[in-house]
Amino acid sequence: MTPPAVPAPRKLFVTTALPYANAPFHIGHLMEYIQADVWVRFQRMQGHEVHFVCADDAHGAPIMLKAQSEGITPEQLIARVGASHTEDWRRYGISFDTTHSTHSPENTELAQSIYRALRDWRPSLIGTKTIEQFYDPVKGMFLADRYIKGTCPKCGAQDQNGDNCEVCGSTYAPTDLIDPRSALTGARPELRESPHLFFRLSDPEVVAFLERWTKATPLQPEVYNKIQEWLGDGGRALNDWDISRDPPYFGIDIPDAPGKYFYVWLDAPIGYLAALKKHFDSGAARRAYPGETRTFDQFLADPGVEQYHFIGKDIVYFHTLFWPAMLHFSGRKTPTNVFVHGFLVMASGEKMSKSRGTGISPQRYVESGLNPEWLRYYIAAKLNERVEDLDFNPDDFVARVNSDLVGKYVNIASRAAGFVDKHFGGALAYSPKVAGELAHAARDATKLAADAYAARRFGQVVRDAMAIADRINEAFDQARPWTLAKDPAHRADLQDACSRALAGFKLLTVLLAPILPVTASRVAREFFGLGRDFTWADGAVLPDRVGAYSHLLARIDPKQLDALLLGPAAAPSPQPSRAPSGEGGNAAASAPAAVKPKAGPTPAAAAASPSPQRGEGQGEGADAATITIDDFAKVDLRIARIVNAEHVDGADKLLRLTLDVGEGRHRTVFAGIKSAYDPAVLVGRLTPMVANLAPRKMKFGLSEGMVLAASGDGPGIYLLAPDAGAEPGMRVK
Ligand SMILES: [Zn+2]
Repeated sequence: MTPPAVPAPRKLFVTTALPYANAPFHIGHLMEYIQADVWVRFQRMQGHEVHFVCADDAHGAPIMLKAQSEGITPEQLIARVGASHTEDWRRYGISFDTTHSTHSPENTELAQSIYRALRDWRPSLIGTKTIEQFYDPVKGMFLADRYIKGTCPKCGAQDQNGDNCEVCGSTYAPTDLIDPRSALTGARPELRESPHLFFRLSDPEVVAFLERWTKATPLQPEVYNKIQEWLGDGGRALNDWDISRDPPYFGIDIPDAPGKYFYVWLDAPIGYLAALKKHFDSGAARRAYPGETRTFDQFLADPGVEQYHFIGKDIVYFHTLFWPAMLHFSGRKTPTNVFVHGFLVMASGEKMSKSRGTGISPQRYVESGLNPEWLRYYIAAKLNERVEDLDFNPDDFVARVNSDLVGKYVNIASRAAGFVDKHFGGALAYSPKVAGELAHAARDATKLAADAYAARRFGQVVRDAMAIADRINEAFDQARPWTLAKDPAHRADLQDACSRALAGFKLLTVLLAPILPVTASRVAREFFGLGRDFTWADGAVLPDRVGAYSHLLARIDPKQLDALLLGPAAAPSPQPSRAPSGEGGNAAASAPAAVKPKAGPTPAAAAASPSPQRGEGQGEGADAATITIDDFAKVDLRIARIVNAEHVDGADKLLRLTLDVGEGRHRTVFAGIKSAYDPAVLVGRLTPMVANLAPRKMKFGLSEGMVLAASGDGPGIYLLAPDAGAEPGMRVK
């Protein structure tokens, strides 16, 4: 039999949007990096050749002015901010192969070369037009709209922006403002003329190209529809694009226009190519893929290379009109696709966008000791292929990490590994029938997850993985390994139950590896002893042994998150972190309007963790009668340490627990948790108990209270546990 043909690996060039180099990241940036990184890691696990690059977007007036205000050079500012970006990429496991800056020789060379090609196209796609623009005579510079303030011409509200009024919502030209002044110096701006260079986006040949590219590209429906609006009526709605700026400016010289600079938005996307060029010129591409011996130019000239850009919905205009047109008319490869995401919003509804840093600071998150993989998991669980805003809900974040990620997934290994280590020296075993079934199920699961990952439906991957984890935990409960372990006659059954559970744990780890790279790497190398990271194919290979289990992932202590959300430094001061489209006064391009998200269920609703099934007569919550806080206060809940736990002769369901409730004496409590717990694993644990329950005389002795455990109508009883730091005797309220 000949082996099936192995498809040739795809060659992928992948970028995120370039972060503006004037401020540290906020959490909206992290969402995009995590989305792209998960996709890229999945592609690498398939064996594809991936070149994942990024660069800081380092030019423009905001950076020049910020450096001036700090008394440093723009180069010093972008070096400092760049170091902070690099550090955050590392901390969050964003696996760029090469990162660079648009303030670089590669970018200068590429921007000037693309410009020359557009200029030399026949008829030329670069035009000149003299425009009239506000000028600050004190500062000695032309003012972008955002640097002009004044009284709204429509409603008379004072201190409004140069292009729109936040009070009445009207938009206008800065020259319409009543009593305009410079936001930089307060000076009254003068209207001055200056010749500007334009990219002729409205040229019929450009419009025809964009219509072809749009139709040939598998864009998201929301994105496609938005482009159709922009291209409507044969492109008559398109304006030419102002690509030059006057000094003083921090940017790249325009070759044939002394004293003029490229507008930052021209050279920013070219930074994608500059980063890739550095990646090839430095030898990094060949080190990663020894078979990749081509130069940067040869690589990009290969029609088989796929080029993907992950971006936010606020910059669709730039990436689906200017960018493909610039590339095409300079004789280059155009994007294979542009993957657009919505914004991350706090549950309160405030946008955590690039321009309004509201919410959690990714720097403080890490510095507070919160695990970056928790955030990767939560964001991945909410992401899908649509252009939708995602809710960041702190309670949901804690619940998904603690109940799902740790409580379901990690729990499998921590429950099963001890038995295997103790009774079988780490060896796993499967009967031929079981092995066949498990491998078949694993192949199905990896196929489904591969399709979902490829289509950026990460929430689907996580939901499916958690459903598998539920089934594994249920099967393990039903096998009653703690009972099997007592009887040498059931040795094979015990090994079978643990082997199935751990094969499932391995499969889940492979499925989640693009999302949890650090955890997955530890599981592959330490627990399964592979000596390397997982590939996708490992998901369907049954493990034959495991090492000793060591702690993998902790639960979140909600207090950590509270401090993060409420702390005064949690929200970075609002400042634009992206060069705005309106910089340059009457830039001809219309602003990149946000793509309206499709109506439909929010990802939060769609991705909600499955609610526990409830049997008849077991209703809680809405079904339970309301009590007052005084009623609740009558229950004296205390933290207890289980100092001993043992079986009770003659009792089917009970364990006898000896509890320390910080009273200077021990209590005895009989708990109906025998089916779920090996007494040995309970010793030393903390759990809440009802301390003022009337003592009850039972057949086996006096029970002085009650411990608390969760259960549904399936098998499985789950003792509650406080977070680290609780002590015996503490009141629970
Ligand atoms: Zn107004």
